[in-house]
Amino acid sequence: MVSVSDATTIIFDNLFRPEIRDVNVMDSTGRVLAETITADRDLPPFNRVSMDGIAIAYSQWVKGKRTFPIMAVQAAGEEPNKLSDDSLCFEVMTGAVLPAGCDTVVRYEDVEIKDSVATVMRDAVGQWQSVHVQGADARKDEKLLEPGQRLAPSEVALLSSVGKSMVRVFSYPRIAIVSTGDELIDIRDTPLPWQIRRSNSYALQSAVREMGGDATCFHLQDEKAAMTKSLHKILDDYDVLILSGGVSKGKFDFVPQVLEGIGIKKLFHQVSQRPGKPFWFGASGEGKVAFALPGNPVSTFMCFYRYVKPWIFKSLGTEYDHLSAILERDYLFAPPLTCFLQVTARNESGRVVARPFPGGGSGDFANLKNVTGFLELPLEKNEFKAGEVFPYISFRQ
Ligand code: AMP
Ligand code: MG
Repeated sequence: MVSVSDATTIIFDNLFRPEIRDVNVMDSTGRVLAETITADRDLPPFNRVSMDGIAIAYSQWVKGKRTFPIMAVQAAGEEPNKLSDDSLCFEVMTGAVLPAGCDTVVRYEDVEIKDSVATVMRDAVGQWQSVHVQGADARKDEKLLEPGQRLAPSEVALLSSVGKSMVRVFSYPRIAIVSTGDELIDIRDTPLPWQIRRSNSYALQSAVREMGGDATCFHLQDEKAAMTKSLHKILDDYDVLILSGGVSKGKFDFVPQVLEGIGIKKLFHQVSQRPGKPFWFGASGEGKVAFALPGNPVSTFMCFYRYVKPWIFKSLGTEYDHLSAILERDYLFAPPLTCFLQVTARNESGRVVARPFPGGGSGDFANLKNVTGFLELPLEKNEFKAGEVFPYISFRQ
């Protein structure tokens, strides 16, 4: 049996090597960038007017001039004009190029216009006010984004602004989700009284999809020879196997021996945690790994979010967000195991407070609808006090 922290280290020592793929920028959200993005021109690319108003030469203001005849209007999208005489002004619109000869914008709110003459009604005006100066945000060829950056809509804006319609990202591994168990049927079939629907496979597939990846589901019976044959084939076609069930001490729990039989070396079996103690993890020499998760639905679910998801992120060269939360009330947990306590976390004036909502054990996956994640209570202690802060694994966005 290994500790949670040793299990994590072993898993992180066996990252997959991601491939690189070009995707449409609109399919890049949630993906991890695999290239350096530089500014193709200054950002902003010209002195951009940032308020509707008038543009003047500051030198005239300094000389005491307050009244400026309007030479013309400079709208957004127009080629830049030029002030023919410093004593004049332009009416300028947000997004327009600041006309040559002007260096200051006074917004309409501070101006009175009568008979094509603008009078500034303010006492103080600063040079370059309401002008977004060319190159202020980034210079041409400056690095904007680096590999490892997780792409959110904010980066989609940046990528679009430099004309990247296709973007290079690290691709997810080929993931196979394999459920095992003779009692499990597909969700489209009608269960006999002693059968249940294999909900784990769907939960895992949905969790992978939520990350922007994809996975294919398989189901195997608790029969050693057939399981060996099928897993052999699956291992040929996929890089990562996420199995659920068949790793405990039952007479028909064949998964560990079958995995070893097809060349996946055991790196640990059993983690000192609850739920999820029977967790098995192994790797082949060829960079393929198998997460054999216990079948109890809460265990499967917790292990995915605590181990598999961070492993995928780390393999893609990006860090997983480590959250923490404050335990709302005292909690006792006697076994010498790390307790992944189901909690409902809420934000209270900027502090994340987690209320225990333990549910009925690792089989009670209906309880997950009541909670937002798991609080990781370390093995070293048994009494956890209200107000203490612990790592928090959230499964809700
Ligand atoms: P096992 O780890 O195979 O001993 O399974 C533990 C419990 O989890 C059993 O009650 C199984 O029926 C249940 N279980 C295993 N796999 C799934 C699955 N894919 N969906 C729902 N329940 C499952
Ligand atoms: Mg089973």
